[in-house]
Amino acid sequence: MRQYFLQIVVMLGCALWGYAQTTPAADLIIRNAHVWTVDASHPEAEAVAVLGDRIVAVGTSEQVDAWRGPHTRVVDAAGKRLLPGFDDAHVHFTDGGAQLDSVQLNDATSVQEFVRRIRERAAKSAKGEWLLGGDWDETKWSPAELPTKELIDPATPETPVAVNRYDGHMVLANSLALKLAGITAQTPDPAGGVIVRDRQGNPTGALKDAVQDLLFKAVPPFSHDQRRHAIERALEHAASLGVTSVQHMNPDPADIAIYSELLEEGKLTTRIYAAPLITQVDDQVKIGIRRAFGGPYLRIGGVKAYADGSLGSTTAYFFEPFLDQPGNRGLLSDEMQPISLMRDRMMRADAAGLQICTHAIGDAGISAILDIYTEIEKTHGSRDRRWRIEHAQHMAAKDFDRFAGLHVIASVQPYHAIDDGRWAESRIGHDRASRTYAFRTFLDHGVRLALGTDWEVAPLDPMLTLYAATTRATLDGKNPKGWFPEQKLTIKEAIEAYTMGSAYAEFQEKEKGSITAGKLADMVLLSDDVLTIDPVKIRDVNVLKTWVGGKLTYEAASR
Ligand SMILES: [Zn+2]
Repeated sequence: MRQYFLQIVVMLGCALWGYAQTTPAADLIIRNAHVWTVDASHPEAEAVAVLGDRIVAVGTSEQVDAWRGPHTRVVDAAGKRLLPGFDDAHVHFTDGGAQLDSVQLNDATSVQEFVRRIRERAAKSAKGEWLLGGDWDETKWSPAELPTKELIDPATPETPVAVNRYDGHMVLANSLALKLAGITAQTPDPAGGVIVRDRQGNPTGALKDAVQDLLFKAVPPFSHDQRRHAIERALEHAASLGVTSVQHMNPDPADIAIYSELLEEGKLTTRIYAAPLITQVDDQVKIGIRRAFGGPYLRIGGVKAYADGSLGSTTAYFFEPFLDQPGNRGLLSDEMQPISLMRDRMMRADAAGLQICTHAIGDAGISAILDIYTEIEKTHGSRDRRWRIEHAQHMAAKDFDRFAGLHVIASVQPYHAIDDGRWAESRIGHDRASRTYAFRTFLDHGVRLALGTDWEVAPLDPMLTLYAATTRATLDGKNPKGWFPEQKLTIKEAIEAYTMGSAYAEFQEKEKGSITAGKLADMVLLSDDVLTIDPVKIRDVNVLKTWVGGKLTYEAASR
């Protein structure tokens, strides 16, 4: 309604100004751009006109100039590349925002550096205040051994520490944190979790998967202000990277409350699709909402489930054991113990029309979820469900056809491939590694991809994801031609999966994902042309401007 009103006002304005205008005037025109629209019907253009929050025209600069009025903001893109805004299909947005301000351990390249950073941070914190975050990665140290509480205890006598491994599937606690959480040598391993122990059976401080819940119970929850601050930091960060939509996996209900609050205040600058944990499926079922319920800035109606753990934490669930741990083939998550628990929850979610997004990494974990999806389809009949498997990391050869047959979307994070690619083969061997992050094989089987980062597990920067998808060059520099290079995506495929593919994965492909008249005006202007430069250089490309619904949400400082 407001839009039409604006149009009338604009038209009246034009008449008063004496413009011989046949169309209402645009609020924004971006001209002289290299537009890659991701719209197959006309992939390239020079200019875009926006009225209200929608794109109204895409074409040559001359064609789009017909939408110019006295109050139209005109941006000369100086021949730079304009793309649809990126839609990150898998983020942990609040954790990401909090991480921007927390201790940074991910690039600590030695255990000494790891300890030094924790010591410095603890020295600055108030007594008793928890030290969280971190994202450490022991594979960057030599020897690549899991850290223990003994390393950090002397540096943190009054600070409870619970710093997570970067994949979120393991945390290192110091002695004070273990004490506060009541985790001792007598604590049994819960289903779906492992307390790493020394020879005497004492916890070393490293806690895998489900045990983390025991620990985090002792951590006071975010206050409203802390949570809001983290989300505001995340929104700012997303805008600066050209990320115009995110799909928040397992948000806390308090996150959704803050999104609603920001929406009311007109401060939500990134579009959110939130998929809360399946353990709380009955909450969404009770309300009666279905998948992708909400408005252009905030939707819910998905559920996020966990089938297993991660490769890095040796908790991804495989048919065969890990090469470096012959007795271990990983863990099904606590949600899968027993599997009927997961099946029943998924059945309820599906009956209610909710979308199911399942974290599954190991080949046996993925297979078990495909079994459940098959059973649901048999029971409830077929319809457009857009089931997802998050990560879909290590596929059994037999499962690609099943994956495609069930129309499951592979929600993948290419950055993980260049990160895990450093060491994955030593853990699972060549054969399994050949079906790891198998993006090309998915496409060949007709599986749709949605791209994302898993931020805060990996950086939110889409340029790193495009770089990873197109080069598969591992972070250690050892595979410059690509790790399993046959699985590379072309830049066009990667962009499409990151825009239309992700939009499809949240049922919004008619609203966004391409620069098409009628769609939401979410766009990003880049410093360099990612379509033509050497893929190796994509990671150095910067965002110049970001628009969400035609509003400028980020502008790079001019150099
Ligand atoms: Zn995740």
